[in-house]
Amino acid sequence: MNPDQLAFALADLDSQGLRRRRRVLDGPQGVRVRVDGRDYLSFSSNDYLGLANHPEIVSATQLAVARFGVGAGAAHLLTGHHRLHHELEAELAAFVGLPAALLFSTGYMASLGVIPALLDRHGEVFEDRLNHASLVDAALLSRAKLTRYPHLDLAWLDRRLGESVAQVKLIATDTVFSMDGDLAPIPELLALAEKHDAWLYVDDAHGFGVLEREAEHPHALSASRLTPHPSLIYMATLGKAAGVAGAFVAGTEELVEWLVNRARTYIYTTAQPPLLAAAVSASLKLIAGEPWRRQRLAELIARLKAGVADLPWPLVASDSPIQPLLVGGNEDAVRLAEGLRARGILIPAIRPPTVPQGQARLRISLSAAHGVADLDSLLAALRELAP
Ligand SMILES: *Cc1c(COP(=O)(O)O)cnc(C)c1O
Repeated sequence: MNPDQLAFALADLDSQGLRRRRRVLDGPQGVRVRVDGRDYLSFSSNDYLGLANHPEIVSATQLAVARFGVGAGAAHLLTGHHRLHHELEAELAAFVGLPAALLFSTGYMASLGVIPALLDRHGEVFEDRLNHASLVDAALLSRAKLTRYPHLDLAWLDRRLGESVAQVKLIATDTVFSMDGDLAPIPELLALAEKHDAWLYVDDAHGFGVLEREAEHPHALSASRLTPHPSLIYMATLGKAAGVAGAFVAGTEELVEWLVNRARTYIYTTAQPPLLAAAVSASLKLIAGEPWRRQRLAELIARLKAGVADLPWPLVASDSPIQPLLVGGNEDAVRLAEGLRARGILIPAIRPPTVPQGQARLRISLSAAHGVADLDSLLAALRELAP
């Protein structure tokens, strides 16, 4: 793209109805938001537990900022690695039951740092077709061969892992797929990794803090019962259910030591403000201490599933707070989202290329901060808009 081509390219996006524009949020994130000057009931954030504006997290952050100031002022390997970061890493490792953890500034940076630190052009990365963009970019940055497997097709993956002659192999997967809300079978993937002497890198951005991972999710990654495994690399982001910002990678002590030495997105960037570590630490206490938040989510999920049964659009099968309502056509999805917006309800329409052609959808995100009445308002509005 040359400078003189930008205006044409943007006009082209406009003409196809594909130009993206940002909405401006006033006030805190939550289920009631003020966006572009209007108040909405929102089903469109990743703040699944309703923690982004929690008073205990806010006050822990205020205390930290009063004591330690704002900026970290340096990278972790210089003088930016604050005691609050160091202690939080130990808390996070304990939280997921793995030996060690390392903080990154974002989930995107975590993946961009880890995968190229382990593989080079002699390696091969195997990725689920529906993986998050950051995992694809991380593989490309490593220069390893990238092989994408059909969504959840483990037989296909098993074959291709068997055929690979790469020196280092890594399987990367979302745990909860971000546009469908379905779950990857982590124990089976771990068995494949073991069989083929590969790493398993799991991106738990949408699962951390949310999935109970007990009987109802037998296939899900069990963070409460994670068994340390030498080939498992666990990554979770802290800006979704945890309500703050950042990410961490957990695994063996050796893995974390290697990343401290070789992950370029860890080394060549300023450490996150320590106040964010204080915020995450407060958030972890709420996640562990308030199981009602996960129970509320489970109730809302069940009520939504029952409530849409008589509507013309099916939900994609999902037991996570991501509940996509499958509309089909792009214009129908946009029209439905606009109809809801006119009724004061905010839900994004997701269209190709983010999802396959003909599978445009409304991506409903539930939060523990939603009440039953909020969900009923949504269902009533959908009923009014049904053809
Ligand atoms: C949001 C997300 C990321 C990126 O995390 P950030 O901390 O927002 O950079 C990575 N992977 C998945 C699956 C995500 O949904």
